[in-house]
Amino acid sequence: MISLIHNFDDIDFDRPGKHHYQVAFHLDGTWGYSVVPLTVINGKRGPNANGVICFGGTHGNEYEGQVGVKRLCTDLDPEQMAGRVVLMPQLSESACVANSRTSPLDGVNMNRAFPGNPRGTISSRIAHFVKTRVFPQGRVVIDIHSGGMEGAFPHCTSFHPIPDPKQKAEIATVSRLFDTGIVMIYSSAMASGLLTDEAEGEGKITIGSEFGGGASTDRLGVRHAFDGTKNVLRHYGLLDGKIEKIRPAGSAPTRLIKADKLDSYIPAPRNGVWEPVIEPGQGVEQGQLLGRLHDFSDHSSPALEILAPRGGYISMLHLGARPVKGQTLFVIAENVDWSEVIG
Ligand SMILES: [Zn+2]
Repeated sequence: MISLIHNFDDIDFDRPGKHHYQVAFHLDGTWGYSVVPLTVINGKRGPNANGVICFGGTHGNEYEGQVGVKRLCTDLDPEQMAGRVVLMPQLSESACVANSRTSPLDGVNMNRAFPGNPRGTISSRIAHFVKTRVFPQGRVVIDIHSGGMEGAFPHCTSFHPIPDPKQKAEIATVSRLFDTGIVMIYSSAMASGLLTDEAEGEGKITIGSEFGGGASTDRLGVRHAFDGTKNVLRHYGLLDGKIEKIRPAGSAPTRLIKADKLDSYIPAPRNGVWEPVIEPGQGVEQGQLLGRLHDFSDHSSPALEILAPRGGYISMLHLGARPVKGQTLFVIAENVDWSEVIG
């Protein structure tokens, strides 16, 4: 059974067991609602100080999080659990329905709408609901993304540079529980208003992620979302059992990389048709060819060769064939020793 919620006070975040809600946010320009799915689970094995909150569909055309979190809504059994889990599989519900990055209702990117505004447009009101009603329910926040139509990423979890060493070390430890090949520290300066910015700022153990791309549903990406989150529940004792490997046996240890400065985010120098010649996540050397930009206004013209400005790891490549001058064409990250963040 699903309860339709008009008054946020009617969501009982303390009620034992598993309860499904649809939270109605009124539309901005006509009568009706965006009904945002929310599931609250309070395990029957007692309290746990580390409540876990997990979001999918912050961007509507990224499906690994939507599918992984929905499966957690159906599969997690409160009889086998301690503590509280809050799950929102389609945070920007209107964007998810529209298969788009931003909400078609107000044109807003949910992951730039934080901390939100109770009198703003619909995305801003949903962000404010998350900030004021959902974040207080947990200490661990997981926001599951994939590249959408923007970028091709290697499967990775991510976090921003964190000033507090204790918070940073715990985030780094949790980031490895998803068993991705790469964990990335990314720049806070590339964008503002992120869900993860807000949670990190509150001191929460906050994990971002990129588990696929191209508005598809990546098989291994869904496993990183679903089994990775279950690993987090096991790590904190909300679920019993050992941490499970997700990648195939024999996979390389998880590599930590950082692209924490803006000069790692390289824009396209001109419009063109993009021909990448490397894979996302690949290590490259300074001067190595990364791809070519083709100008079809003169098919006899040589392509503009795009070279690596320095050695490192390609943590994101432009996905579409038609980058526009100024759009991020690739991100080049550097290797970091885990001892720098975990100690
Ligand atoms: Zn995203």
